[in-house]
Amino acid sequence: MKEIYNKSQQSLAKKMEENPSLKKWTDWKWQIKHSIKNLDTFEKLTGISFSKKEREKFEKTIQKFPMSITPYYLSLIDSEEYKYDPIFKQSFPDPSELKIQKADIEDPLAEDTDSPVSGITHRYPDRLLFLVSNTCSMYCRHCTRKRRVGDVDSVPSKKEVKKGIDYIKKTPEVRDVLLSGGDPFLLSTEYLDWILTELQKIPHLEIIRIGTRTPAVLPYRITDNLVSMLKKHHPIWVNTHFNHPRELTTSAKESLAKLADAGIPLGNQSVLLAGINDCPRIMKKLVQKLVQNRVRPYYLYQCDLSEGLTHFRTPVSKGIEIMENLIGHTSGFAVPRYVIDAPGGGGKIPVMPEYLISWGTNKVILRNYEGVITTYKEPDSYEPYFCDRNCEECTRNLKLEGAEEKAVGIAKLLADYDKTISLTPEHTERVERRKK
Ligand SMILES: *Cc1c(COP(=O)(O)O)cnc(C)c1O
Repeated sequence: MKEIYNKSQQSLAKKMEENPSLKKWTDWKWQIKHSIKNLDTFEKLTGISFSKKEREKFEKTIQKFPMSITPYYLSLIDSEEYKYDPIFKQSFPDPSELKIQKADIEDPLAEDTDSPVSGITHRYPDRLLFLVSNTCSMYCRHCTRKRRVGDVDSVPSKKEVKKGIDYIKKTPEVRDVLLSGGDPFLLSTEYLDWILTELQKIPHLEIIRIGTRTPAVLPYRITDNLVSMLKKHHPIWVNTHFNHPRELTTSAKESLAKLADAGIPLGNQSVLLAGINDCPRIMKKLVQKLVQNRVRPYYLYQCDLSEGLTHFRTPVSKGIEIMENLIGHTSGFAVPRYVIDAPGGGGKIPVMPEYLISWGTNKVILRNYEGVITTYKEPDSYEPYFCDRNCEECTRNLKLEGAEEKAVGIAKLLADYDKTISLTPEHTERVERRKK
């Protein structure tokens, strides 16, 4: 069945506007203008009605964490079984959001702390996160930046954005900028064009990435106009955010095809969410549908410790179980990397089932997805060579100009030239004792 402006969407549109048309429905600005932000409209449009008690709780939740649902996304809700519906659960407030747990943190990823100028989080050596938009078309209930949802719905001024661009300009090690928000695709095409043009003038920037949920919640935003603008700024990579196979509708698929046809490599970042996709079968279906639409599953996130997300969190074991069900069972490039974004700002940490089960002299013991246990005999004759990151091999084979950046972190412990033998957190009680 073709989903674009189907019967239920037509009747929805009719409740919103006297003379609705396909043209209006598929106009992203019309969708935003008609976004559902209160309970009355939600009830009227979906035919779902809540008890007085329920309404009071929902109202209270919306006061703290506002609601906004595009008519398109709303039209995907199954109003009969809404309580179990993954679309409903991702978009409609749950009073559990008000339950703050002890371990919850307002800004768990310390994005505001690792921020040299407002809007930028510079955490990794060669790339950074640049928040260029304050707004989203749909407010995901599981938003990791929930602290900010609905705060300011204004477009950041050119002056503000320029501060971020200037920081990138004077930071030559940054070769990859990740535009996020909010949703960068909620900016006007012209404004985004300006940002991309300014960024492209920076000689050391090699790629620009854009994170957007519009293909899932507002696919009509992916207009021919937007796509031809993006094409001018290659290499552009786009990461989108689908969490459930039901989100891959005809409209969503068309938007992905447009982006892929423009030569934009597409990735997907999902969040593992209790009651929504915490199931190996749902996840497998999701990743397979994504690759069918030329989207490479990139990350599967363990749900962050942001306030208001308690009811969405699963144990980490659930994620490992899902990975166990994907690796080996389906196409390798359909398998995302499961990560926990470290509370306190350590960045993304990959988590995997264990495949290396033992290790002896020159021999490792491995197991595969079926449970086959096998041995891999390592070479007896491998000759290690000393590398100071500017060794003969480096210069002969890579023709690098001088030494590359020094090794950091665990890579530093592994490096030949560095004498460091351990990494110790500063000011531990043990270290403090030594000083006495
Ligand atoms: C996720 C993230 C990035 C990008 O990380 P990749 O692993 O390269 O995708 C960069 N900066 C911040 C702050 C991030 O959270």
